[in-house]
Amino acid sequence: MTTKRSERAAASQVRALRNILTMEAANGFPDKAVAGGLDRFLETLRGQAGADPALKSLDERGLLSVAYAELDAARRERWADEARRFLGDRPTPRSTGRPARPPEPPPAQPAGNPLDVPLNALRSVNRTQAAAIKRMLIRRRMLTTPDPTVRDLLYLFPLRHVDRRERTSVGKLRVGEEQTIEAVLWEAYEVRLGRGGRIRATEAVVGDDTGNIRVIWWGNPWIAQQLKKAIAATAHTPNGVPRIVLSGKVTLFKGKRQMESPEWELQGSATASGLHTAGLVPFYPTAATAKNKRIPPRRMREIVREALDSTRNGGDRLGIPDPLPDAVREDVGLLPLGDAVEQAHYPASEDEKEQARRRLAFDEFLAIQLRVGMERNYTSSQEGIGLPSFPPMVEAFIASLPFELTQGQRDALDEAMQDVSTGGRPMSRLLQGDVGSGKTVVAVAMLLAAVAGGYQGAMMAPTEVLADQHFLNVRRLLSGEQHSLENPDWFAATLEGREEPVTVALLTGSTRAQPRREILRMAEEGSLDLLIGTHALIQQQVALPNLALAVGDEQHRFGVLQREALRGKSTVGEPHLLLMSATPIPRTLALTLYGGLEISTMRELPAGRQEILTRSVELARAADAENYLLTQVREGRQCFIVYPRIDDADDRYSGVDDDDDATDEDSDLIPESAALPLLTAVVEYERLRTTTLAEARVGLLHGRMPLPEKQAVMDAFRSGELDVLVSTPVIEVGIDVPNATVMMIQSPTRFGLAQLHQLRGRVGRGAHRSYCFLVSESEDETFQRLSDARQRRVANGDDWREVEQWFRAALAQAESSRERLNVLVRTNDGFEIAEADLEMRSQGDFFGTRQSGVAPVRMARPDDRDLLDASREHAGRILEADPELSTLSGLRAAVDRLTAAVTDEMA
Ligand code: ADP
Ligand code: MG
Repeated sequence: MTTKRSERAAASQVRALRNILTMEAANGFPDKAVAGGLDRFLETLRGQAGADPALKSLDERGLLSVAYAELDAARRERWADEARRFLGDRPTPRSTGRPARPPEPPPAQPAGNPLDVPLNALRSVNRTQAAAIKRMLIRRRMLTTPDPTVRDLLYLFPLRHVDRRERTSVGKLRVGEEQTIEAVLWEAYEVRLGRGGRIRATEAVVGDDTGNIRVIWWGNPWIAQQLKKAIAATAHTPNGVPRIVLSGKVTLFKGKRQMESPEWELQGSATASGLHTAGLVPFYPTAATAKNKRIPPRRMREIVREALDSTRNGGDRLGIPDPLPDAVREDVGLLPLGDAVEQAHYPASEDEKEQARRRLAFDEFLAIQLRVGMERNYTSSQEGIGLPSFPPMVEAFIASLPFELTQGQRDALDEAMQDVSTGGRPMSRLLQGDVGSGKTVVAVAMLLAAVAGGYQGAMMAPTEVLADQHFLNVRRLLSGEQHSLENPDWFAATLEGREEPVTVALLTGSTRAQPRREILRMAEEGSLDLLIGTHALIQQQVALPNLALAVGDEQHRFGVLQREALRGKSTVGEPHLLLMSATPIPRTLALTLYGGLEISTMRELPAGRQEILTRSVELARAADAENYLLTQVREGRQCFIVYPRIDDADDRYSGVDDDDDATDEDSDLIPESAALPLLTAVVEYERLRTTTLAEARVGLLHGRMPLPEKQAVMDAFRSGELDVLVSTPVIEVGIDVPNATVMMIQSPTRFGLAQLHQLRGRVGRGAHRSYCFLVSESEDETFQRLSDARQRRVANGDDWREVEQWFRAALAQAESSRERLNVLVRTNDGFEIAEADLEMRSQGDFFGTRQSGVAPVRMARPDDRDLLDASREHAGRILEADPELSTLSGLRAAVDRLTAAVTDEMA
């Protein structure tokens, strides 16, 4: 029994090691994949080497005894390759030098899946570009292997397609619109434009039987070279002139029409592909080199096109093997994979594009459902650790609380106690409850049930600040208000119903070495009852041999997919898992991402909780709001002021809704000159504490501060030594200061709705009336700002029709931002907000997975209910026939990639 367990433990450590090596390789071996360094993890592995053949062979070759921290990157890479070889993995292809180019007539298909071919084997990608693409894939959490492959590239779907199906003639070109023409290229030359001729450009004249038009490409003198060459090359042919397709906007210059920086493609030449100017033309997320040079859209298209074509094996369809059994595909009515991939990039129509999306969406759902199903099969084969239901210690704890439990808390507790006490499989429960609904109390009661049963419990938080907060909360709940400041890392509390005191420790990345050693020792020998810490620490380094229950806070960052990270920690069996979320998850999403979880929902807030009064405050009246805040301070209350950015060097929060690439595409909508200046925390902190809020005690908190400083500021605010906390969204989750009554948020349109709701939940936690101020432009202010910009542009000589178009678009965008904020003003109900958020969220990240890193869902949408249901059904059938997917290696690989893609979250 025990040996079987330790085997399982070791096997899971091997999986972890694999993931770690993958992440290390993907990031250039920075020794960042394990918090605290890889060496510590290797030490653990050495201890378990006997229990797993792979570990054993690694150990015998001394591979577990390197001092990884001391190695340089090249040595680390060599070591990792070696280790991966013994784990049965393909080593990282050497990044030294470019792999040999494939020979001229198309290369023979490499054995195996053409999707696994490394990206830099493509002819149209040079090394800098490959690196740029890799960086972009990492940023978008899309990299599944250390070196990007054709698969990674082909699964990077276009952000949008521009319709260039219709051709018009020169005579019919309309100013201000994007149109496509095919014309004769008469002449082309380089010109110097702008004041003093500083801007090099290409100018050309093209025409058809309806007229001629000037074309200009700003800053692109090299186009002139290419066009001239084409003119020279055709000079002796029968027609004598090259034809060119142009696609772009028509503007007015000195009263004459011109085409400005259009996409272009010469016709009739060997290189004419129609990639850029015909049909529905794809636009991809921007990949930029380290020097911030972007891969131009046409180059991206060429690269992706080559990647698509590289999969062909003779026929005119893509030769991508389809892992989905034909029967399933036909039953759901889906395209073959190759067709779907081709059409996702180059659809002939909107309908084809949608067909492709549906197939790929199904794949995403299916992989998740399979993963969840396998996980569920595994846990149901396990016997849960039996815990006492409502033991005296828990009853005493509940009785000791200064408040009554809400009905929701009682129900949730009943359900969870049921799970852990009646035998059967280990608990996997998600506790959903709005901000402030009192999830911590439920969690603590459950942890105490584990302790009462003679086991250990752990509580994991996504950030150090939050782990800190939990620790303080638990200390307050268990030992009343008495603080034992001499012991910031652990405490013991005597509870009714148990002789010896319950010991609780806090372990984060900044726990000092001496107490850390002590805590790790107590945890390992089992004398520590409860451990609170960050996800990473608890997952990777700590031995908790008697672990019976792990609680994860904000499960967005700790889904059921990561459950296996916990496995192997415990020697008493498969630990129970209780996940908590304050971001209510709409049903579709819950089923998709957390399909393996039971869900408890707490719908009400504790009695006496204040309804928070939310108001939009126009910019011109921000000072009034600051004054109001001051009156609150004078009454002894505390306040938060939140800014989206730390300072000008901080670009983390620059995008609306964290969808940086989508806003990227639209950024030309609002020219620099017309954009709203962004206030930053650092600058505003100085202003506030020296002017409006001079009489208050003001503190500053942001993510780039060293942790001890952060802690000091938080402690000062908690203990009332600070009146006002100027902050970035680092305070988003879990900060609990009942005396805080005002949450003032600057530039709220920069945040997602769920995030704003979280921020707002920081107030209204005590007896006092609380307020949330969203300081943003009023309709009039927006109109004024945009009108001014419009006037400047027209005075500048910009085409008025184009300016007008821009003006209207910018107004509409501002309007929809205001609508979003109004949802918050209208309701305090987190569920309503989550639904509204989902509806308004920009396409491409409906599931918010880019932020959460839970699972890659890129093509699926919340309203794909039919696909979701079908995927659940088929996953069930597939697993019934083949629980390990041993005959469906393609699906198995897809499921494994799912786990690989989330690994950096665990690091
Ligand atoms: P969240 O669900 O957001 O994590 P917390 O667990 O942090 O909420 O609880 C918020 C505050 O409400 C804490 O100060 C907690 O002590 C208090 N609280 C919890 N349950 C109740 C209750 N039933 N009645 C009154 N206050 C409660
Ligand atoms: Mg909480």
